[in-house]
Amino acid sequence: MRLVGSDAYEVDLFGHVFPVQKYRLTREEALRRGIIAEADLIEAHRASAEDVLLIHTEEYFDDFINQRMTHRILRSEMALTPEIIESFMVTAGGTVAASDFALSDSVCVHIGGGFHHAYPDHAEGFCYLNDVAIAIARLAREGKIERACVIDCDLHQGNGTAFIFSQDPDVFTFSIHQENNYPPKERSDLDIGLPDGAGDDLYLGELQVIGDILDRHRPSVVFYLAGADPYRDDKLGGLSLSKDGLRKRDALVFSECRKRTIPVCVVFAGGYAFDIADDVEIHVNTIVEAKKGDSALFPD
Ligand SMILES: [Zn+2]
Repeated sequence: MRLVGSDAYEVDLFGHVFPVQKYRLTREEALRRGIIAEADLIEAHRASAEDVLLIHTEEYFDDFINQRMTHRILRSEMALTPEIIESFMVTAGGTVAASDFALSDSVCVHIGGGFHHAYPDHAEGFCYLNDVAIAIARLAREGKIERACVIDCDLHQGNGTAFIFSQDPDVFTFSIHQENNYPPKERSDLDIGLPDGAGDDLYLGELQVIGDILDRHRPSVVFYLAGADPYRDDKLGGLSLSKDGLRKRDALVFSECRKRTIPVCVVFAGGYAFDIADDVEIHVNTIVEAKKGDSALFPD
């Protein structure tokens, strides 16, 4: 299984809560434990402006790339520096690359990405570019897929992604999230808003619905946002999943996709545990579950 990533993601966010070190720490831990090898790692590169503009408006992208602090940019709660611009451009390119590997290899993990609050014409949350939306639009433009499904298991609703594809019957957006939390909600094709404190049993019971989604929509590819923030010791989250519950979540998503021979492109999305080692362990577990059955899907 190939994994895409870049050290360009580890940028100074000036005290912002997003733990950018988690990408490197996850990679190092997965290597240390022998779960992945150096040879599996693929360096991400900047997305092309052409790809970004499949989703984002020219006005917004022009502000972003030129670090112009207009109202479109200031909707973000994060600073905007040349390094942060580079980080988001490489992240978008990383998810684009990972989506290609997913199609050829059956599964690919992007150790990054999942910035699902970004809208076509403005930033939101910590998100400047909606990397998953860009990758879906680019696969569709190249004729590589007919339909896509987004399975967004980050704690927060994928509002930007839901908005972007609200009029597109070829992209099914599913989000399972904490209802009483950021962001202001858009309407996904299916939303499950969980009550505060929901734990493993409720979460995993509700998540069973993805089998029906995949049967009805029959996507060519699934984009899985494997956020670590539903974890019970998350600073920003109010759900109560255990690490084992999150691992079962991952296993359920991968097994439902494998059963139907649907390739999966994984992105990490959020995760703000009080102890960053917890985020790292949750993300490493996602890599372990992604690898199970790897290459069994498309035996040649
Ligand atoms: Zn989140």
